[in-house]
Amino acid sequence: MVLTALLLSGSPAHAWNLAGWAWDSNEFPVPWYLADYVTPELSAEYEEEVTRLGASIWAEQAPCAGTSDLYMGIREGHWASGPSSSDLVNTVYFDDPTARNDESALGVTYTSFGGAYFPIEEPDGDIAYIFEAYDSDIVFSDWAQWATTEDIAAGNCNNEYSIEGVATHEFGHFWGMAHSCEREDVESGRCTELAWYEATMFWTGAACDLTQANLAEDDIQGITALYGPYASFSTDSETSGGVPLEVCFDLETKTGDYEGLEVEWSFGDGATSTEFAPCHTYETQGQFTVYVTITGTDPSCGSYSFDQREPAFVTVCEPPHPGEGFSGTFTYEYVEGTTYQMINQADLSVYGCIDQVAWDVFKDGQKVQSISAWSPKIDFGEEGTYEVVLNLGGPGGISAESLTIDVGTDGVGGCSAVPGAAAGLFGLLAGLGAAVRRRHQP
Ligand SMILES: [Zn+2]
Repeated sequence: MVLTALLLSGSPAHAWNLAGWAWDSNEFPVPWYLADYVTPELSAEYEEEVTRLGASIWAEQAPCAGTSDLYMGIREGHWASGPSSSDLVNTVYFDDPTARNDESALGVTYTSFGGAYFPIEEPDGDIAYIFEAYDSDIVFSDWAQWATTEDIAAGNCNNEYSIEGVATHEFGHFWGMAHSCEREDVESGRCTELAWYEATMFWTGAACDLTQANLAEDDIQGITALYGPYASFSTDSETSGGVPLEVCFDLETKTGDYEGLEVEWSFGDGATSTEFAPCHTYETQGQFTVYVTITGTDPSCGSYSFDQREPAFVTVCEPPHPGEGFSGTFTYEYVEGTTYQMINQADLSVYGCIDQVAWDVFKDGQKVQSISAWSPKIDFGEEGTYEVVLNLGGPGGISAESLTIDVGTDGVGGCSAVPGAAAGLFGLLAGLGAAVRRRHQP
């Protein structure tokens, strides 16, 4: 599932919230059934009519989101068993057959979701992680008395609730919306905008009130963020390799085509492109975040703009080499006895450019030790002349450097045996980056 956030140009402030699930739009329409029970307040025909309206009004009034549902009919003989996520059949129930709803709720939507997720930034800056829904059941409560839209409009409503408003609200949850404001937000004064109270996804509705039967701008913004135009990209090229590295990008859009679309790529190294499927050659080492912005207009969405970025999408490496200020990939210091501390000086400025480290120790042409730590202490075990080779590997290639170490020929060994001025000189050389390729003088 590839769904991400949308920024509509000229959007007013909005407070929609997402529930954390969404249907895979590649599998639209989403099928659902109505359980075979007719609540005394409504006719069988009106139950069907009003629930179908609640599902489809999201597509009608938020066309840019492009949701799509398919009413499958009455689920015969099923009502008493109530909602179940394990049957994988989306079902709407009247009068809460298994007494599952919270007493204060007019209706509850029970949704099961999991699998892959994608992040969406909500208006308050929070990141919502959206999982794929696989079963959603709507259960209208038993205690609630329902009024038809016609009765409410005609003034024939006595403390009953609009079934159309509640059905629209519950199908908002079904599609993946959460409340514009929760009860606690209202009580604590956090629900500050009139628009949030007017939203279909406001946490509750008033008796004999039809407000929630129609989507408010806030609801439209939210559902459009969840299902509206988006772009993502992929590549069949290697995204990690040596300089120069050519990467070819494929733009993926919701509609699967580029009709009416403009695109701008930013490859992270300063280069840009307005081609739909560009190839770009990275000439310098680095880790690059790739951005794509699509802008377009279409009859359902008007003008829109959408940004997608993939942090650290491309890693381009030179072969392993000394870090800035060093002339070799390693040096070493005497520790004690026949033990020396290896000091790795390889360039780590680009994450991922070194993924293999091996130190090989040779004596008289024979390998006597091999160590894979970054900067190991090596105990040579006995005095003698050793060659130490640091092998480094990564996407940019491999390197090998060697130093010869005369271990403790005077019974002490190492730099610490060099007194006074000579030690100072060594320190100075190291500071200048000139002390790497040398033969150690005991
Ligand atoms: Zn709700």
